[in-house]
Amino acid sequence: MLPDVQHLMELQQADREILRLNQEVAALPKRVAAIEAKLAGTKAGLEQAKAAVKADEAIRRKYESAIQDLQGKISKYRDQSLAVKTNEQYKALLHEIQFAEQDIKSNEDKILELMLNAEARDKDVKAAELELKAEMAEIEKEKAAARERTSEDEKLLEEWNAKRNQARAGVNEDLLRQYERVAKFRGSGLAEVRDQKCMGCQVMLRPQTYNDVRGGQIVVCESCQRVLYFDPATGVAVERPSLSAKRRARPKTHVDKAWFYRAAYGDLGEVFFAFLNVDGSASRRVYDAHTGRKIGDTEYQPGDFSAVFADDIKSGVRLHTTLDLEQLDEWASELPMTELDELHADLKKALREAPVEAAHPSEHPAAS
Ligand SMILES: [Zn+2]
Repeated sequence: MLPDVQHLMELQQADREILRLNQEVAALPKRVAAIEAKLAGTKAGLEQAKAAVKADEAIRRKYESAIQDLQGKISKYRDQSLAVKTNEQYKALLHEIQFAEQDIKSNEDKILELMLNAEARDKDVKAAELELKAEMAEIEKEKAAARERTSEDEKLLEEWNAKRNQARAGVNEDLLRQYERVAKFRGSGLAEVRDQKCMGCQVMLRPQTYNDVRGGQIVVCESCQRVLYFDPATGVAVERPSLSAKRRARPKTHVDKAWFYRAAYGDLGEVFFAFLNVDGSASRRVYDAHTGRKIGDTEYQPGDFSAVFADDIKSGVRLHTTLDLEQLDEWASELPMTELDELHADLKKALREAPVEAAHPSEHPAAS
C-alpha cells in the first residue's frame, strides 16, 4: 500500500476517534444534569408530602378546638337548666345541648377520617425520602464516573491528536487538502474500492479509474471526491448478478419521478426530496442539501406522490434535473457529488426563473 494512503488511513482513524471522544466528553455533563433534574423533582415531591401532613395537622387542631368550645357550651346550658322556671325554657336548653352534641360527633368523625388519612400521608413521605436517598447516592456515583471518564477521554484525546499530527505530516500536501476538504462535509475523506465500487458513495468506478487504483495510483472518486484505495485482501470482485440485470428482470410499467427542494424542512434545514411513482406506489427520499446525505428511511405509500406527499411539495421548488432516479437505490446513503452539484445548479436556475418564498437558498459548499 502507498505510504500516503497508509497515513491517510491512520489519519481517518484518528479523526474518527477524536470526534467520538469529543462527543463523549460533551455528553457526560448532560447525563449528570438529567439526573439532577430528576433529583429536584423528587425533592419537590417530598416537600409536597410533608406540607400535606402539616396541613392535616392544622385542620385537626381546628376540629379539636371546636369540640372544646362545644363542650364548654354544653356545660353552660346544663348550669342554666338548673335555674329555669318553665318547662318550655327547659326544653329549649335540652334542644341546644342536643345540637351541640351532634356537632361534637361530626367533628370527631372528621378527626377520625384525618387519622386514617395520616397513615397514607406518612407512607408517601417515607417513600419520597427513600427515593431521594437512592437518587442522591446515584448522582454521586454518576458524577464520580463522569469525572473519571472525562479525564480518561482527555488523555486519549491527547494521544490521538499526537497520532493525527504524525499521520498528517506523512501525507502529501495536495492530497491532504483534498482529504480534509471532503472529510469536512462528507464525514470521511477516504474510501476503499471493492467490487469496482467506491465504498464511500456506492458508485461504480469507470474501468480506467479502477485499473489506476488497483495499479497503486492515487485516484479520487469522481462521484464523491474521496481519495480511493484498494486492498487486495478485500477489494476483489465477487461473482454475482449485477443490479442492472436484476432490474431488467422486473420491468416497471409506469414510472414518474420528480426532485423538489425545500429551504426548511422541520428542523432539518435545506433538503432535496426525490419522489417516485412506481406501479401505483409512491416513495419519498430526503437528502441533506449540503452534504447529500440521506435522512431517514425511504417512505413508501400507496397512491401518487403528488397526493400522498402533497404537504412536502406545497412549499417546495420543483427542479428540472433529469437525474436517473432508478439509481437512487444504488446510491443508498448519499448522493454522488456530481449529482448534488447538478441539483444545486438546477435550483439556482429555478430560483432565478421564479423567485419563490424559498427563504435563503445558500451556496452548495462544494461549489464555493
Ligand atoms: Zn465515491
